[in-house]
Amino acid sequence: MSQIIETAEQTLIHTYNRYQIVLDHGDGVYLYDENGKRYLDCASGIGVFALGYQNPYFNEKMKEQLDKLTHCSNLYYNAPATKAATKLVAASGMEKVFFTNSGTEAIEGAVKIAKKYGYLKFGTTDGEIIAMRHSFHGRSMGALAVTGQPKYQEAFGTVIDNIKFAEYNNLDSVKELITDKTVAILFETVQGEGGLYPGTEEFVKGVRELCDQHDLLMMVDEIQCGMGRTGTMFAYQGFDVVPDVVTSAKAIGNGFPVGAFMVRGKASDVLVAGDHGSTYGGNPLAGMAVDTVLTIFEQDKVVEHVKEVAPYFEKVLDEFVAKYDCILERRGKGLMQGLEFKQPVAPVIAKAQENGLLVISAGANVLRFLPPLIITKEQMDEMAEILHGCIEK
Ligand code: PLP
Repeated sequence: MSQIIETAEQTLIHTYNRYQIVLDHGDGVYLYDENGKRYLDCASGIGVFALGYQNPYFNEKMKEQLDKLTHCSNLYYNAPATKAATKLVAASGMEKVFFTNSGTEAIEGAVKIAKKYGYLKFGTTDGEIIAMRHSFHGRSMGALAVTGQPKYQEAFGTVIDNIKFAEYNNLDSVKELITDKTVAILFETVQGEGGLYPGTEEFVKGVRELCDQHDLLMMVDEIQCGMGRTGTMFAYQGFDVVPDVVTSAKAIGNGFPVGAFMVRGKASDVLVAGDHGSTYGGNPLAGMAVDTVLTIFEQDKVVEHVKEVAPYFEKVLDEFVAKYDCILERRGKGLMQGLEFKQPVAPVIAKAQENGLLVISAGANVLRFLPPLIITKEQMDEMAEILHGCIEK
């Protein structure tokens, strides 16, 4: 066993069952381990490296900012975060942004907006949030409270009362839960961790209508599915709706830890000075990361590329469904795809690693694909060749 793995297991709290690989560096869509072995990366650090590894322009801008100023607190203004917010607002159709350091913190912010929205309306803090079963929103106590997977909450309880869980893609089950105390409906536009389920048009548009009818906040979590992955900059834009609150993270930093929650309309002025804060959130280096990522998206026409290659990716994956009895179906949208097997996918993941391919799971039986958005059709063929070999074995 690698010395690094041995030492890590002695010193890091064992909250992850890690794969036995020590990654050293990346280049484009490839990662290299400490022994120089190359892997085609179809996980991109769980949907983070949209632009792949070592994008030269991204690295240049980050180094430039590193030499200038990395942090100044939110007691002062800084240009990179302001530029990043301006671009995010333009790309999302939202009005204002709060920068966080992770996706979980973006969800915390969204939950606080919902709670405060109820407080302003009712004068009490017992406003109800409707979230979805099988959702995933993060591991802090607040994010856990809106995550519809009891296995994550079992040992910790939930600190936020009045969270109700509806069936994803089932509008009636959402309607049934709406009461006079409901303040918000929260869902992922594509459920990732829960098994790669894209929201249906009827559901996404239906939730928007329900929110309008009942004066609720429509809050969408685009932490995994946003930023071009489904073929539009934000996945909700594929449905021609605009939410009131959007959470983002992962790909907006392309490897630099940064998240954001964005608001518009009735959600815009809910949080005021003193309601929320973060020492690091929106620091100049994070701002430069987001600003540069958005510049590259535009310059390199990343979303257009996804639109062009995604049908090919679907075709390549559909061939697996057609060929192997052990695979039930393909699900997903754009470059966020899953293959559901009849049995646990752990052995397939292990075999793929052996053969130089990184894929991950979503639950026990779903093989999850979140490649860098710059992946080419040739690299998809390379992925397919390795994976066919693994499944056949
Ligand atoms: N929301 C969704 C949809 C996610 O996929 C994740 C992470 O996988 C989170 C929230 C939490 O984000 P983070 O791990 O950056 O805190």
